[in-house]
Amino acid sequence: MTVRKVRTRFAPSPTGYLHIGGVRTALFSWLYARHTGGDFILRVEDTDAQRSTEESTRQILDAMLWLGLDWDEGPFYQSKRLDLYREYIHKLVDQGKAYWCECSPEALEAMRSQALEKGDKPRYNRTCRHKGLGPGPGRVIRFATPGNGATSFDDQIKGRVTVSNEELDDFILLRSDDMPTYNVSVVIDDALMEMTHVIRGDDHVMNTPKQIQLYKALGSPLPVFGHVPMVLGKDRTRLSKRHGATSVTAYKDMGFLPEAVVNYLVRLSWSHGDQEIFSREELIEFFDIGDVGKSAAVFNPEKLLWLNHHYIKTGDTARLAALVPEFLELKGYPVPDREYLQKVVTDVRERTKTLEEIVDFGDFYFTEKEPPAELRRDFFKPDLALAFGTLVEKLRTVDPWEHAGLEEAVRGVLEETGLKFKILAQPMRVALTGKTVSPGIFEIMATLGRDRVLDRLSRAHACMRGS
Ligand code: GLU
Repeated sequence: MTVRKVRTRFAPSPTGYLHIGGVRTALFSWLYARHTGGDFILRVEDTDAQRSTEESTRQILDAMLWLGLDWDEGPFYQSKRLDLYREYIHKLVDQGKAYWCECSPEALEAMRSQALEKGDKPRYNRTCRHKGLGPGPGRVIRFATPGNGATSFDDQIKGRVTVSNEELDDFILLRSDDMPTYNVSVVIDDALMEMTHVIRGDDHVMNTPKQIQLYKALGSPLPVFGHVPMVLGKDRTRLSKRHGATSVTAYKDMGFLPEAVVNYLVRLSWSHGDQEIFSREELIEFFDIGDVGKSAAVFNPEKLLWLNHHYIKTGDTARLAALVPEFLELKGYPVPDREYLQKVVTDVRERTKTLEEIVDFGDFYFTEKEPPAELRRDFFKPDLALAFGTLVEKLRTVDPWEHAGLEEAVRGVLEETGLKFKILAQPMRVALTGKTVSPGIFEIMATLGRDRVLDRLSRAHACMRGS
């Protein structure tokens, strides 16, 4: 037997943004393809013309690219394949495996109430199955689901799933507006695109028996199914806006790094020993869909932030520096050169967890602002004026403008004035940054450069002298 090359897919419906749960499914599907040397296919399920938008498609593709979830084929658009689905559906009618149904919404509603009254599941009573109807206004095509027995499959995550065929109902394949339904278009595509593994959210697990019956009717080989458990909020309800940002794009906009998001998402329902930090190469090497756990995962924004901080602290400074300008522009700050940005990143990254925080916490690197009045009052005391005067004079002669020379100049002031380092350093910090917490003052001075430092310290000096 020849082993087929693995083919997996992600098939989002572009009716909203790409949310955390959806992208985690995409990641598992992508990783499984990469782990096995297979192909990953992207298919946009945009058959719902009313709810699908181009904007949402664009956002989903952008988010995938941002996370590095690249695809080998596609994106395919279901809206461009409608005739193909119709052709297959009509073939099923010709073969007696599907039939036209003329039941009105009122008649269906009556069936529903009757079933409910009897304590049965609401189901279509198959009235039209043997009428031999053809097309007509208001008519739909239904699948003639085999009436007896059960449909089972071995889910790669959930194990064996069995559903009685009675439950499946003669579901609709083609609506009265000539639009194919999800279950049939997805099966036709997965069959024609030769998927070997269908990995998707477990909200679809009850569709799978219907789809298996359709594969059989079409005479197509069955893929292996894997239904990924849901992502819940902290209160263990389905993750929603109430739990904070849930779109991938929102995390990008808040200054998260794609590697942190990927690393965070993969650990929802999957683990490899007690390892928490994974490189992309490690994920590809270690990930197996069979190792995904059955139980729902809980989304923990603090852990995502912790991971992001890890990648900010340890990332390549040139790359991080290249990501900062977007956030500077949002704040309306001028964008300095890359070399300067790299120094800023090096200075602040122990204390900043996101790219946005680099810009907020490190605002003094980018813009001139008077320190707040209460800090000026508390720290720019007249009795420091002499020391600050000496400090400015000594700093003027520092050459080259580097950590060692700066430190030597400050030590010289301490020796001459008998002041303790802390007494001088804190007002310097306030003068240079407008804050009482910051990176080390020598790092800040080295990065800010001579002109800015002398200017800010001179202004503090003038304030101390009351001028
Ligand atoms: N388009 C479906 C959805 O977004 C996915 C269907 C599938 O993966 O089979 O829920």
